[in-house]
Amino acid sequence: MSKKQKKQYPKSDELPDVNSPLVKKWVSEINWAKVPKIPITKANIPSCPDCPEHKKDIPKNACWWTCGGCVAKDDIEACPREKAWGLTYDDGPSKDTPRLLKKLKQANVTSTFFVVGSRVLEYPEILKQQVKEGHHIALHTWSHAGMTSLTNEQIVAEIKWAEKIVFDVTGLKTKYWRPPYGDVDNRVREIVRQLGYVTVIWTKEWDSNDWQIPEKTITTKEVFRNFKWALSTIPKLKGGVITLEHDLFTSEVNVAIPLLDMGMKKGLEPMDIARCVNDPSPYQNSVVQKPATKPTPAPAAAIKPAAHAAPAQKPLEAPKVVQVENIPSESDTSTEEQTIEGAGSKKKSDTVRASWAVSSLVLIAASAFMFL
Ligand SMILES: [Zn+2]
Repeated sequence: MSKKQKKQYPKSDELPDVNSPLVKKWVSEINWAKVPKIPITKANIPSCPDCPEHKKDIPKNACWWTCGGCVAKDDIEACPREKAWGLTYDDGPSKDTPRLLKKLKQANVTSTFFVVGSRVLEYPEILKQQVKEGHHIALHTWSHAGMTSLTNEQIVAEIKWAEKIVFDVTGLKTKYWRPPYGDVDNRVREIVRQLGYVTVIWTKEWDSNDWQIPEKTITTKEVFRNFKWALSTIPKLKGGVITLEHDLFTSEVNVAIPLLDMGMKKGLEPMDIARCVNDPSPYQNSVVQKPATKPTPAPAAAIKPAAHAAPAQKPLEAPKVVQVENIPSESDTSTEEQTIEGAGSKKKSDTVRASWAVSSLVLIAASAFMFL
């Protein structure tokens, strides 16, 4: 991405300007009457807000997950199916992400990457690789601030700028997001819902705490020991789990690799979040193709926006969710508000996918991109 192209995005790791015309437009598209009036929490932005000393100081209608563990009906905290392991990595992409991708490829596993917009600005090519290798991309905001501590307009800007850069780079309009620090309440939830998002947290006790390794508040050994303990609870679980791991720092990827082996050895089936919740359209611009007897190339004009395989029979057994062939290249250009129509690509099926969804076609269009 050239310097000029980078300049059209907000600065890395900073709250985007809410007075920009684009943010004003996004804000104007929200029905604010539906957004509950819950006080903004206090935080040293971008850090996680502090919980009030007394639980009674949390407004009853807040349903604040970070402070109080309140879960909304549509929050995703676990995979419904037993042994299903929602594998998620946050805060990337980073220079260490390719090492993790290599491991996932070897294990024939796809995961969900909750990416930070500022990191995509830094490593757009790695994001393309993630999509190309079948992983599910979801959002983790632009600058990784605690969302309950932001104004309504800042929340919109954090989501939409992250969404925009992922779309510009990959052609995918994301549908799932994870609040940094799990910091979400009913005000934040309603705003992101209106932006088309599903909130994904993680299963209690399944935070690997790998994020504490770079902070030196936990050792690698302790991470393994904690995870081993979590694995020992599998027989008591009523469904699957969603773990919290990260791919921002070298030390996090260093533990992610053995943790994957440990979980699989105990019989967990790792998968991305779309597969964990059995969602055949994991992007806002997914197009699910009806099963056909034989995959046939679709005429270019009939190909719709970013598409996704519709698992035919056994979706949860399929190791890959999305494959994309025509990720935009550095030379591609587009304009801001373009929709992706027209050009696309037919998916090839590999032997594994062929066994479960011979008749499913994965299509993705990527004709109009800002650049890249
Ligand atoms: Zn994070």
